[in-house]
Amino acid sequence: MTITLVRGRYVIERVLDRDTAVIHEDGAVAVEGDRIVAIGSHADLAARWPAAGTLGSDRHVVLPGLVNGHHHVGLTPVQLGSLDQPLELWFATRMVARDVDLHLDTLYSAFEMIGSGVTTVQHLHGRAPGPIEAVEQAALKVIGAYRAIGMRVSYSYAFRDQNMLVYEDDAAFVARLPQDLGARLAETLARFRITAEEYFAMTARLAEATEADPRVAIQLAPTNLHWVSDKALEGFRDVSEARGLPMHMHLNETAYQKRYARLRGGGTAAEYLRDRGLLGPRMTLGHAVWLTEADIDLVAESGTLICHNASSNLRLRSGVACLNCFAKRGIRVAMGMDEAGINDDRDMLAEMRLVLRLHRVPGMDPAEVPTAPEVLRMASENGGLTTPFGAAIGTLSPGSFADLSLVSWDALSHPYLDPLIPVVDAVLLRAKAGGVETVMIGGEVVMRDRRFTRIDREAALAELAAQLALPLKPEEERRRVLARDILPHVRDFYAGYLDGEVREPFYAPSSRR
Ligand SMILES: [Zn+2]
Repeated sequence: MTITLVRGRYVIERVLDRDTAVIHEDGAVAVEGDRIVAIGSHADLAARWPAAGTLGSDRHVVLPGLVNGHHHVGLTPVQLGSLDQPLELWFATRMVARDVDLHLDTLYSAFEMIGSGVTTVQHLHGRAPGPIEAVEQAALKVIGAYRAIGMRVSYSYAFRDQNMLVYEDDAAFVARLPQDLGARLAETLARFRITAEEYFAMTARLAEATEADPRVAIQLAPTNLHWVSDKALEGFRDVSEARGLPMHMHLNETAYQKRYARLRGGGTAAEYLRDRGLLGPRMTLGHAVWLTEADIDLVAESGTLICHNASSNLRLRSGVACLNCFAKRGIRVAMGMDEAGINDDRDMLAEMRLVLRLHRVPGMDPAEVPTAPEVLRMASENGGLTTPFGAAIGTLSPGSFADLSLVSWDALSHPYLDPLIPVVDAVLLRAKAGGVETVMIGGEVVMRDRRFTRIDREAALAELAAQLALPLKPEEERRRVLARDILPHVRDFYAGYLDGEVREPFYAPSSRR
C-alpha cells in the first residue's frame, strides 16, 4: 500500500500530563491505509519512504483529530426559533423547531465541526417521531450523512420512555392542563415514546448495518435519569455489559435535575446509578454540573467518565461544572459542544479556549486551573475514550486511525509569536477555525485547503435554504401553537420545585465562606 507523509513544523503526537505534550519538531506521521504506521522526524521518515507522497509543510502544525464528545443537531436551536432559556423551559420551546431534512441538517454541523478540526463526533440523536421503524430510518439518515462526508461518528439514539416534557409522569402533567391542551400535548408526546425492547433491537440492527464501516460505531444513550424508567435502566446495564457498549447519559445538568433525583430515589442521581450498577468505565456523564463532593468521589472511584459541555451550561443557565474538582480527583473528562457553542456554531477551537478560560479561579497556584495540554487531551484522547473507538483515536500514535488536521502556523504566529510560548499554548490561545486548512479522517483527506472533497458545501446549503424557504406545514404550525400554549404551564410546574434544595453547587464561592 502507498504511504503518505503528513508533515508539520510541529507534529503533536499526544499529551502526556498537565504540562507535557509529545511534539515532533520538523516532524511527520506516516499514513498507510486508514492508520498511522510511524511518527518521527520528517527527515527520517522521508529517508525510510522516499517514494511517499507528502501532505503539509514546515508552515503547519499537525494536530490529532478532535472529538466533539456531545452533539445533537445540525441547524442550531436559535436558527430554528428557540432563544436560550433555562433548560427546563427551553425543552418546551424546542417544539417550535421545523422539520429539517436530516441528511442536510447533519451535513450542516459536520461542515462546521470538520472545519474546526473535529474528526469524530459523539452524535446523540434525540426526538425522532415513532414508530420505531421511522426512528430507525431517521437514524440511518443521520449516519448516512456522516458516511457521505467521511466523518467518524459514534452514533446513539437518545432513549426516553417517561416524563417526556417535565419531571413528572406525563399522564399526571396532562391531567392538570385544560382539556383541549392536554389532549394536544398527550397526542404529541405519545409519538415519541418507544420501549426499551424496541430500542435495544434497533441498536443491534444499526450496529449490524454499519459493521463494515470502520468510521461508524453504535453505542447507547439512556438520555437522562428523569427520562428513563427503572426497568429500562436495568436493560441499559445488561446490554452495555453483554455487548461491551459505552453509554452516554446527561446527568445533573441543572439544580432541578438534582432535585428530581432526590424526589425519585431519596439520594443523588449518581447514587441512583451506582445502586443499579450503571457507573463504571463504560459510562460517560454529560454535563455533571450539580454533582456533590461525594458524587465526584463515586465517579472517580468507579472510573466513570464525564463530558464537559461548557457553552451549553452557560447558555441554558445550568451552571458551571467544577472541572477543577474533576481534575483533582483524576476523572477522565471529555468535552462537547452540545447543541452549539458560545458563538452559536460548532467551533471546537473556540470551545477549547472557553474551557481553558472558564475555570481560571482567582489565586496563584497553577495546579488549580486547567492547562492547555490538559484541554487538548480532553478534546482528543479523552473524547475518544467515551466512544467505542477508544484509544484508536485521539492521538497520533502508531496503530491509531489516521485522523488529524493541518493547522496553518502562519495564521496563528504571523507577524510574530515569541518562541517563549509553548506550541500547545499557541494553538489553544491563537488558532482559529479559519486556520484549519486540511483534515484527514481514516487516512482520507475530507477537507483540503478548506474545501470538502466529497460534498459540495455550497450546493448542500443552497438546498437546505430552499427547503426551509417553503411555508410551514400544518404539523409545524400545530407544534408552534402547542409550544406557545404549554410554556406557562411548564413554568408553573417548576415554581417551588427547588424548595428545600440547596440552590448553589458545593464549590460556589459563597459556600466556601
Ligand atoms: Zn445534550
